[in-house]
Amino acid sequence: MARYGKGSHNKTHGRIEKHSRIDSFFFRNLLPMIGSKEFLKCGKINLYREYIENENGTILFARVPHEFGERVYFECPYCYHRFRYLYWHDDWYKCRFCAKLNYRSQQETKSNGDLSLYRIFKILEKLNAEDTYCWIDSAHYIPERPRYMHEKTYIRLIRKLHREQEIYSLHLMGMLRDVTSLIS
Ligand SMILES: [Zn+2]
Repeated sequence: MARYGKGSHNKTHGRIEKHSRIDSFFFRNLLPMIGSKEFLKCGKINLYREYIENENGTILFARVPHEFGERVYFECPYCYHRFRYLYWHDDWYKCRFCAKLNYRSQQETKSNGDLSLYRIFKILEKLNAEDTYCWIDSAHYIPERPRYMHEKTYIRLIRKLHREQEIYSLHLMGMLRDVTSLIS
């Protein structure tokens, strides 16, 4: 269960409407305008075909087949569930449930790299594999499917794990590049 930061327990509920909110249907309607460009600038947010991005990070779209075509939702960067609306909370967008995340989780997700790391841990937790994780070999590591887990769920989690591992290794390479440029 979520633990709230000291003194903030009375602030976490009912204030969500005051936070700035983004609507996936709005971005969906703008998608055709990207045309041949790589992305579309919408204020501080860049809209790509598969995701939106700003300096804080990336939010993926989840596409759901619908009677006439498809619906486009956001995938909450914290819980991976689909939502039409995400809310600005602290320093990132999250679903209305994750906006009430406990203090520790928020502290763990300050930068893009930290966010990936946090998600990797979360996924490994679900796979019961957090003890066997090896950082050096991260990109090649595929935890076994827990016996109680559905095949479909397992495949989805592994896909997400690899995506986060990629983001994280890009983040590490970026840090390496920064360090190298300082030395040379
Ligand atoms: Zn969420």
